[in-house]
Amino acid sequence: MWGGVTVSNATLHNMDEIERLGVMIGDEVIIRRAGDVIPKIVSVVLERRDPTQVSEITFPKQCPVCGSDVERSLLNRHSQSSTESKTSFGSIYRCVGRLACQAQVKQALIHFVSRRAMDIEGLGEKNIEQLVDRDLVKTPADLFRLTVNDFLSLDGFAEVSAEKLYKAIQSSKEVSLERFIYALGIPEVGEETARLLAVSLGSLSRIRTASAHLLIFLPEIGQEVASEIEHFMQDSHNATVIDALLSQGVTPSQTGIVDKRLQGQISLADVIKSLSIKAVGQTTAKRLANHFGSIEAFIKADKSHLSQLPNLSHAAQLALVKWLADDCAVQSALALNQQLIDFEMLEGSVEVTAEADTLPLADQTWVLTGSLETMTRDEAKQKLQHLGAKVSGSVSKNTDVVVAGPGAGSKLAKAESLGLKVLDEEAFVTLLNELA
Ligand SMILES: [Zn+2]
Repeated sequence: MWGGVTVSNATLHNMDEIERLGVMIGDEVIIRRAGDVIPKIVSVVLERRDPTQVSEITFPKQCPVCGSDVERSLLNRHSQSSTESKTSFGSIYRCVGRLACQAQVKQALIHFVSRRAMDIEGLGEKNIEQLVDRDLVKTPADLFRLTVNDFLSLDGFAEVSAEKLYKAIQSSKEVSLERFIYALGIPEVGEETARLLAVSLGSLSRIRTASAHLLIFLPEIGQEVASEIEHFMQDSHNATVIDALLSQGVTPSQTGIVDKRLQGQISLADVIKSLSIKAVGQTTAKRLANHFGSIEAFIKADKSHLSQLPNLSHAAQLALVKWLADDCAVQSALALNQQLIDFEMLEGSVEVTAEADTLPLADQTWVLTGSLETMTRDEAKQKLQHLGAKVSGSVSKNTDVVVAGPGAGSKLAKAESLGLKVLDEEAFVTLLNELA
């Protein structure tokens, strides 16, 4: 009893916390309760521990449902600079059984169909349990193969409800990219991260192929989340499921373009800084980028070259020499650079498409009258439009230029009376050539 409340559960968070506290089964502990949150174990009362009455907390080595191994999550799995950061363990334990593990398949399906994900109404937990237990569904893609008869074979379905569920599943195929990504159930990827991925990269294929190194350039995506996304997408089971979903006709809507705020925004200095080379921070990365100008030149730098660089600390120099000798790190940096180019995120990699208001004849209204010898009226019109001009059929005080060929009549007269600029064909063609 505490403040009128009997505390029966307290959180231990994860294995790291258990190790930090050194808590054992049978221990007496101090707990803290703040507001409505789950009470927390603060410390173990060691003086009251009876060694004969306590036992160590161990995590299962095998999944209690499918018997597959239980594996501890890894951090920095694909660390860019293998010379500097090493693989460390995360705090999450997972059954490696994935699709072979019915417990995981059920949870994945429950999440997949949920309201904020694929939003398939009428497919509750009980139905999913039945579908999985009867081997009708092994992956989310299997849902789209189910027929009205399959539903009729389950408990509690009649013609109308089976028909309705079938339709709900089929109509969920048109889905936004962010919902689709969220529905996949990538660890650490909630709705907000799914939205950021969809908006930032604009296409499923980019999200599927993006390396963790590239992903950390996206807003609010840290190392751990980036690793989880890459790991999930590179997993062959997951890739198979995504391919199957697509071939079942699931079509996530995509803009196809990388967010404008990311286009051409990553500089060489950003890339070098992201390589986590010891003693190479923002300032040094900038100096190196300015000096070498390209990743290709940078990776060819040798010791003597680096020693000639002014303002480069000895520590940075040593770390760079070590890094440059690590072929794996260098290849990984080249791959990152290439992907940033492919995604048009690297500075200078974006093809500048002329916007309407930057075209030479933007905001001008032109009128064509009379006949032209070197091109048809339509061709002339098209050329003008490509240069940003509006082409009008009648002359007014809002007209900027009139092109008058032989046979021009009242339009030319009106243009002259309004004092507008008039070009003959020769002057018009000369101008087109200048602007082309
Ligand atoms: Zn399992």
